[in-house]
Amino acid sequence: MASHVVPKTWKNGLLEVGPGVFAYVQSSGVDPRGDTGIANAGLIVGRDGAVAVDALMVPSMTRRLVAAIKKVTTKPVAKLINTHHHLDHTGGNAFFKTAQIIATDKARGALEPGFPPVPLLQRFMPRFAAEFPKLRVVLPTVTFQDRMVLYDGDREIQLWHPGTPAHTIGDSVVYLPKEKILFTGDLCFHYVTPLAFQGHVGHWIKALDRLLDFDADILVPGHGAIGTKQEARYVRDYLVLVRREAKKRFDAGLSPEEAARDIKLGPFRAWSDADRVLPNVMRCYAEFQGQPDSPLDLPRMLAGMEALRGHATDHTCL
Ligand SMILES: [Zn+2]
Repeated sequence: MASHVVPKTWKNGLLEVGPGVFAYVQSSGVDPRGDTGIANAGLIVGRDGAVAVDALMVPSMTRRLVAAIKKVTTKPVAKLINTHHHLDHTGGNAFFKTAQIIATDKARGALEPGFPPVPLLQRFMPRFAAEFPKLRVVLPTVTFQDRMVLYDGDREIQLWHPGTPAHTIGDSVVYLPKEKILFTGDLCFHYVTPLAFQGHVGHWIKALDRLLDFDADILVPGHGAIGTKQEARYVRDYLVLVRREAKKRFDAGLSPEEAARDIKLGPFRAWSDADRVLPNVMRCYAEFQGQPDSPLDLPRMLAGMEALRGHATDHTCL
């Protein structure tokens, strides 16, 4: 396992990562209050219009994103890509009224029933509680299965779905082959603990293996700092560690909560939201039980994460 130094801070805001290609990073370092809901986005300005990658979560966030976009281009956002159905990537869809919204058919299907109930969101992400009642689901208008390519002048924008559930059932990444830039959606979390509560950890590891084959120099993750393939390897290392250690404890008859408390995270304990080890272990257990599609018990997950945070504060031994 790669040991590494977790940066104290990183650049945020709308950052140009290639000619006319921007990453929008909301966080600026490991936040003790947690990173849940604080996603990244992207912008690709082309000859005919602009393409946005993800719409963030609550109105205050998306308003800031839209204002930042207007500072770098007067072109309309003609297309918006949702890298997956999660609220922190689709909550702001309503702000892109004139855009075609593109996602995998599976991501659209997962968004169709609507967002999780407001009280659950408020418990999970209390910092944004006041804004959740304002959210309105806006579904993708164009879907694809495994692959789609958008052309805008010389620019080629490839969309790719790994073919299995990974972070969620319908993940996609956005790849610019000429510029060697990859918007990974939530297949990558950089210095922020990956969250698999609706995912499949084993398949996610395989999806990362395939992602590492892309010819890319710059990776814009769904959460955390802009990075390179090195950070994608750390994400893979984390998932491999958690899955391997969860299996030992599953075989020994420990509950997911006991396993999550017991697993030593090594360098990853410095990443934000270390308590996500519990949902990640719970998903591994579902996999080991042969029920990878069974939904996670969210109230149990939240109670367990709250207990883990208390445990970490009391004994600093998470
Ligand atoms: Zn997500």
